[in-house]
Amino acid sequence: MSHLRAAAARGLRRSGRRAVSAAAGKRRKGASPRRGAPAPAPAPPPARHLFSDPAEVEALRGNLLAWYDKCKRDLPWRTLAATEPDADRRAYAVWVSEIMLQQTQVSTVIDYYNRWMQKWPTLQALAQASLEEVNELWAGLGYYSRGKRLQEAARKVVSELAGQMPRTAEDLQKLLPGVGRYTAGAIASISYRQATGVVDGNVIRVLCRLRCIGADSSSPAVIDRLWDMANVLVDRSRPGDFNQALMELGATVCVPRAPLCGECPVKQHCQARHRVEKELAFASQKLFGKPTPVPDVEDCGVGDCPLCPPAAEPWDSSLGVTNFPRKAAKKQPRVAQTATCVLERRGCHGAPEYLIVQRPSSGLLAGLWEFPSLPLAQGLQEEKQREVLADHLRAWTGWPVVAEGLRFIGEVVHIFSHIHQTYVVYSLPLDGDVTLDPALSPSRWVTEEEFHASAVSTAMKKVLKACEKQRGEESSPGKGSKRKRGAKPQGASSTRPGTQLSLRAFLQAPTSS
Ligand code: SF4
Repeated sequence: MSHLRAAAARGLRRSGRRAVSAAAGKRRKGASPRRGAPAPAPAPPPARHLFSDPAEVEALRGNLLAWYDKCKRDLPWRTLAATEPDADRRAYAVWVSEIMLQQTQVSTVIDYYNRWMQKWPTLQALAQASLEEVNELWAGLGYYSRGKRLQEAARKVVSELAGQMPRTAEDLQKLLPGVGRYTAGAIASISYRQATGVVDGNVIRVLCRLRCIGADSSSPAVIDRLWDMANVLVDRSRPGDFNQALMELGATVCVPRAPLCGECPVKQHCQARHRVEKELAFASQKLFGKPTPVPDVEDCGVGDCPLCPPAAEPWDSSLGVTNFPRKAAKKQPRVAQTATCVLERRGCHGAPEYLIVQRPSSGLLAGLWEFPSLPLAQGLQEEKQREVLADHLRAWTGWPVVAEGLRFIGEVVHIFSHIHQTYVVYSLPLDGDVTLDPALSPSRWVTEEEFHASAVSTAMKKVLKACEKQRGEESSPGKGSKRKRGAKPQGASSTRPGTQLSLRAFLQAPTSS
């Protein structure tokens, strides 16, 4: 985080100059500061963006905690944190929940969390697990490197820290791989009652609204300011509950699009709400023809204040409190295409089996299993895609694969955080076995049930579903196929839809490639 702090400091220094434009203007007109003179200290943010009144801080803590005690959701990690007497086990239980909850909804996490804690109730148990087991349990939760890093860190605690979790946020962040400032603060405050704040997406939203912070909430300067604020606010006697209450408020009341301000336990401390109420009051006075005073709702220094909305994007009355927070435009995800081939054979009792191959141990979806796949160059025509996939399968299996034998199923789109991925799906039914060179990527045949129990990504589950749907349509007379490309299945000319290609046909070598 040191680079972040340094960047934040740089941002604040820049912002500080903007925040004191009048003084800066005077300096510009006058003589330059003497060489060697100490740089002027950055100006503090305007009061409306701070929690500088101790009485208000105290009241906000009390209101928020009283609401949390009454309204908090019953969640398995909260129960464990409250009932587990062993500090290491408690910290581990919180840690697992925090890692799983990154970028993932609570409702999705609960089941994964319960299964994880049942399988690996302690750090020691997790340290002994294989990466394959971790990936299997994590399958479907997304952002797979989280599980891997959690296990690596557990191994480190066991092997290098004598099985004892670091006891402060600073040490947690310093000593555990994959534990950042937020996770360290959450573990330390919830498990050890360290009075340290946390800042996650929910907290950013709540704080930006409470203090009308409209500058880019992903900028280091604003993030740094929010951390300061969270550390001021955190309740000294119940830090873990306070942090969870702030996050709970963001998750259930101060939600992104339609916040429930009327039910909010801290509405009397909310500057954004205050501003909306004032605007409504002015509007109604105007409606009844009463003289309207100049509204006291201006940003504190349009264009100058480092925490106010930028001058080019002023307060929009139609948005109300959802004017905050604001983010710089998100970078568009990279567009990518991958050809993938579902190799299928009939297993015991005629049930289908699929060939899956393991991805490399680093990079996107590291160590997960997938159908044989190949990234495609942009703008490749279908015929060419088929050829390169056949080439790939040929090189991979060491056997001749006929491009025409690949049957187009459809396209499956999956959005990763930074990639808009389209899988161009083909299938190749076989009636014999294919044994791959063990020196290549590990591979195995799996039944449908085994496929779903394996460490496969959600995208691959979608791919299989597309194949099954296709098969279902073909076996239902009259329904027809909904393939996007071509009117009939593309494959070996002797292959009817729904029939299997013989291994001989699969291996039929083209005379030239
Ligand atoms: Fe959020 Fe509304 Fe509460 Fe303000 S009053 S913190 S905007 S829910």
